[in-house]
Amino acid sequence: MEKEIKLDKNVSIYWIRQDLRLYDNPALKAAVNNGAIVPIYILDDINSGEHKLGSASRIWLYHSLEKLNKQFKNKLHFFNADPLQVISEICESEKINKVYWNRVYEPWCIQRDKKIKEILNLKGIETNSFNGSLLWEPWEVLKNDGTPYRVFTPYYRRGCLNAVEPRIPTKAPQKIQYYDLQKIKSSDIESLNLLPTHNWKNKIIKKWNVGEKAAEQRLEEFISFELNGYKEGRNFPNKKNVSRLSPHLHWGEISPNTIWHKISNLQHLEINNFEDTDTFLSEMGWREFSHYLLFYFPDLPRKNLQKKFDNFSWDNNSLFLKAWKSGLTGYPIIDAGMRELWSTGYMHNRLRMIVGSFLVKNLLLHWHEGEKWFWDCLVDADLASNSAGWQWIAGCGADAAPYFRIFNPITQGLRFDPNGDYTRRYIPEISMLPNKFLFNPWDAPNEVLKESNIKLGETYPKPIVDIKISRAKALSTFAKLKIS
Ligand code: FAD
Repeated sequence: MEKEIKLDKNVSIYWIRQDLRLYDNPALKAAVNNGAIVPIYILDDINSGEHKLGSASRIWLYHSLEKLNKQFKNKLHFFNADPLQVISEICESEKINKVYWNRVYEPWCIQRDKKIKEILNLKGIETNSFNGSLLWEPWEVLKNDGTPYRVFTPYYRRGCLNAVEPRIPTKAPQKIQYYDLQKIKSSDIESLNLLPTHNWKNKIIKKWNVGEKAAEQRLEEFISFELNGYKEGRNFPNKKNVSRLSPHLHWGEISPNTIWHKISNLQHLEINNFEDTDTFLSEMGWREFSHYLLFYFPDLPRKNLQKKFDNFSWDNNSLFLKAWKSGLTGYPIIDAGMRELWSTGYMHNRLRMIVGSFLVKNLLLHWHEGEKWFWDCLVDADLASNSAGWQWIAGCGADAAPYFRIFNPITQGLRFDPNGDYTRRYIPEISMLPNKFLFNPWDAPNEVLKESNIKLGETYPKPIVDIKISRAKALSTFAKLKIS
């Protein structure tokens, strides 16, 4: 006869989600304080619906989980199933009655977690959730009348900066006790099938150091060498003034609190230029604002926040979309951005704005197309920041770029890549062009094209749309909707 397992009050499940770290991890800390833990990761392709992880996210996740598993002394259990079923089975079979997790604020996760909580609680299983990924939870920052902010500056300056100070980071647990599952069989990381079969994975991951240690190092390097000059430098894709912390933040390899307090302390010590630290902290504020918007407007990924955009007649040109995705539009700064994305899984923020504006306002393609492509290709793909970013670009968001703000790909190139180094890196076939024609090769005289080894239309495409005509078309289409 099988031995009856006694209900063990000192054992709990620690459910890992977007918190792939040990340092400053409130759910892990609480679970470890309670006693031994069973750390589990569940790939949930069932409840995520149309927000299943994209390809680049899966690659990052695979490598990050591998690292985390080592930090957990290879005690991590992996499942590829419905979390409610997995957690219920573990609790019932192993007689465990406590579960700990850090909250994720994506609408489908909130819905799923609510249901899990209710059902587990009914079975007498205690659930404990924590904030491990935001500086301020959405309900902590509201206007005086109790309604949510819709505009960034008052949200951040009046709301966040006057709210309770973000939690001071806590240490990683000194010692973790593990409980070995007796009855339930988990699988290894390979069972999650996270890596695609094509070669792309090897290419993008080489560009990154993944995991908690790497995230801490990235922050330290950024502070030591790149933060000075951030306010101006963050606009130039060839300058090393941005942190590239976004995928680490998305996956919770580092907490926003760790970053916030390190940078705020520098501000108090007046070590760095105030404008650089203040701008950097306000960019962290944009991350918060995106999550805030997604929380209060759960349709953000699919529906225009400004309803008047619902009647907009988007084009549906699949050849344009293909050219945009492949970095073959004939506009070098656009193509450089799109190729950066494809080859690194990342795109500089300035480029996200330029290529986004081009897709929506010159090609007149729906912002959903851009949002979907970014979702699949970005290693930092984040439902809140991606949806809010695209709504901002399209002009239909809460606090968005006005519709008549259409980025000119030639002047943007000249201004933000003045030496052309960024563009040449991603479009080698036009690298011999002199700066004067780098962003508008079609204006180059034949002899210049010949000397630069370029046959327009053969070695590099001619522009797929005329920038002036397409701009005018966009303006008149927007104007017809009486958007102001
Ligand atoms: P830094 O300049 O070093 O900023 C530090 C941190 O602040 C970033 O890591 C990020 O967490 C946050 N941040 C900075 N700018 C923004 C912003 N505009 N909105 C929200 N948070 C910001 N960011 C994502 O993390 N995931 C996405 O899927 C995403 N999609 C985007 C789509 C579009 C169309 C646009 C315009 C922006 C998008 N962003 C997204 C925001 C921004 O481009 C990236 O966060 C930033 O480029 C990441 O690089 P970094 O870490 O070097 O940023």
